[in-house]
Amino acid sequence: MSHGLMFHHFYDDVHPKGQGAISAQDFRDMLIYIGLDRILSAEEYFEKAVSGELKPTDRCLTFDDALLCQYDIAYPVMQDLGLTAFWFVYSSVLEGNIEPLEVFRYFRTKFFDDIDDFYIAFFDQLSSEDPDGLDQALRSFDSKTYLAQFPFYSDNDRKFRFLRDVYLGPDKYNFIMAQMISDNGMNIADFTDRLWMNEAQLKELKSTGNVIGLHSYSHPTRLHELPVSDQAVEYQKNFDHLKSIVGAPQTSSHPCNSYSKDTLDILRGLGIKMSFCSNMSVVPNRTILELPREDHINIYKEMRA
Ligand SMILES: [Zn+2]
Repeated sequence: MSHGLMFHHFYDDVHPKGQGAISAQDFRDMLIYIGLDRILSAEEYFEKAVSGELKPTDRCLTFDDALLCQYDIAYPVMQDLGLTAFWFVYSSVLEGNIEPLEVFRYFRTKFFDDIDDFYIAFFDQLSSEDPDGLDQALRSFDSKTYLAQFPFYSDNDRKFRFLRDVYLGPDKYNFIMAQMISDNGMNIADFTDRLWMNEAQLKELKSTGNVIGLHSYSHPTRLHELPVSDQAVEYQKNFDHLKSIVGAPQTSSHPCNSYSKDTLDILRGLGIKMSFCSNMSVVPNRTILELPREDHINIYKEMRA
């Protein structure tokens, strides 16, 4: 069946090259590799999806998370090639809030040569905070058994995840990271301007034929586990915010692919007519609110193979 193409991070001289990030040239190569004539405009894809007229070969471009690197790097290439896309936006970051995962990713790629360089600094930070606590925690850590189901992790990957998830937990981890960021002379508030688009940029996208859709308000990683009333608030706030900037959205994508039957009912209640998953997994009795998407990482690997 037809599916969307899902893009996340892009790099250039300004936006650092994190894991999975591609350049403007990679993006252009990828679009040509896919076939420009197969990529429908976002508006046409939407119309055809809703009326059940999509052909299996039809593709569309989608961007999640309102990342500034997408606007700065991918959008000019699309304009050059006469393409439009779906942009799925979580509103909290346009209202001045931050999303720690994205901030930490930026910090790691911008301030450290590689991931091991970051790990060493992170372990040092923990050691200086509480050397005894760290020693004690590491006594119950074994790099041979911890996360053994992920053979591609390095010893440092395992140690980092153990300390983050078992020893620290989310609140202390966020605190330690915030400390490291300020030690490097950065203020977390500075990150919003570098990482995410603003409302003027969303309006610009809309005015050139792009389609703006929902992606929840604060991007919970496990939205489907929230009480239904909280899920409804997540989408209502997202809807109200986007409606005030670009008009009432009719499309969405599921943050971290997380949704339940209740989530789909909430989306229908808001007038959402079409929504995307974030992978190609088989979904039994797939609805139009669960369209598949291929991750750009997979297309890139296939193209460069
Ligand atoms: Zn997302």
